[in-house]
Amino acid sequence: MTADILTPQELKKADPVFGQHSFNDHEQIVFCNDKDTGLKAIIGIHNTVLGPALGGTRMWNYATEWDALNDVLRLSRGMSFKSAITGLNLGGGKAVIIGDAKTQKTPELMKRFGEFVHSLSGKYITAEDVGMETADMDLVREVTPYVTGISESKGGAGNPSPITAYGVFMGMKAASKHAFGSDNLEGRTVVVQGIGHVGEVLVEHITNEGGKVIISDINEARLEEVSKKYGAEIYRGNDVYSIPMDIYAPCALGATINDNTIQKLQAKVIAGAANNQLKDENLHGAQLQQRGVVYAPDFLINAGGIINVYAELENYGKQEIIRKTENIYDTTLEILRTAETGSITTHQAALKVAVERIEARKNQNK
Ligand code: NAD
Repeated sequence: MTADILTPQELKKADPVFGQHSFNDHEQIVFCNDKDTGLKAIIGIHNTVLGPALGGTRMWNYATEWDALNDVLRLSRGMSFKSAITGLNLGGGKAVIIGDAKTQKTPELMKRFGEFVHSLSGKYITAEDVGMETADMDLVREVTPYVTGISESKGGAGNPSPITAYGVFMGMKAASKHAFGSDNLEGRTVVVQGIGHVGEVLVEHITNEGGKVIISDINEARLEEVSKKYGAEIYRGNDVYSIPMDIYAPCALGATINDNTIQKLQAKVIAGAANNQLKDENLHGAQLQQRGVVYAPDFLINAGGIINVYAELENYGKQEIIRKTENIYDTTLEILRTAETGSITTHQAALKVAVERIEARKNQNK
């Protein structure tokens, strides 16, 4: 199993399907097309050694189809490692629907998507991601059992975002302990970029502990609402990375840690919910290490959501969900210490644990 990921530019140069480096380790990619509903979706199944490939569906207005493909390949791969490091018996998968969730998402489109998921007979199990609501998963549930994140009233574990936020908070505290010697966030300045389903709850946890929160979002109404609720300071400029801060919490989209931002970042800790925060996990992971920034690997600390939806498959309750999520604190500390001792990046240290678990199961199954 390799760890390399190509940029969209490099992707375009390679052969369109099997020549894609990101596709190297994927088991299956499914392209779903339905003219009647306007559905254009891609399901990425990265690895099913530990169990069925579970991962959310993202609806996004991608600039190009290449961007959508690259996103699903990166996201599904991340899911394999997220479940593996969290100790869940799940593989990694993810789906993207190309389009604007605000204007193009219809019940018919969601149900048609559900039929495509059903056609995979449980090899891929879906859930919500950006652009999706619990109500959308309820629609998918009408046509397939291979969906999680459905409403509590329909027997599901409900919206996973508050649990994701709690897990990120645990990871942030562990990273603070490693960087500052204390996990108490009182008096720390934290920039939360993206105050959606996860970001808002994270703001609440940090505020409750006495941290100073600065929020940034492209949605002005959300900024006003969240600022009013928690007394958070709003940042409206276009250079959020240069703000003096102790902790940077990316909770919008991925790849915000890149060549342009890394030089500006003043944070000593990075801990957020977004998937694939490092644009290039090797290059940018190493640069953070050189600069002495403690990066809490995204796929490790944002696993609360998958823990929550896994409860629907394994029938465990809220208490076990909380216990597993709080465990993120210990795992994060362990990974950060291993990285320091072994002089490797924190991302590499986390990846190693995840890959070893998958490989061990593969050998067991032989
Ligand atoms: P969301 O769609 O509810 O919120 C995202 C927020 O980011 C929105 O308020 C949006 O306006 C804002 N945003 C978008 N682009 C931005 C930009 N350039 N600058 C600032 N703000 C911007 O999504 P969410 O469910 O809160 O998830 C946030 C991130 O966490 C995503 O990357 C998602 O993949 C990841 N994640 C979520 C979960 C979960 O349980 N929801 C689990 C694991 C990972």
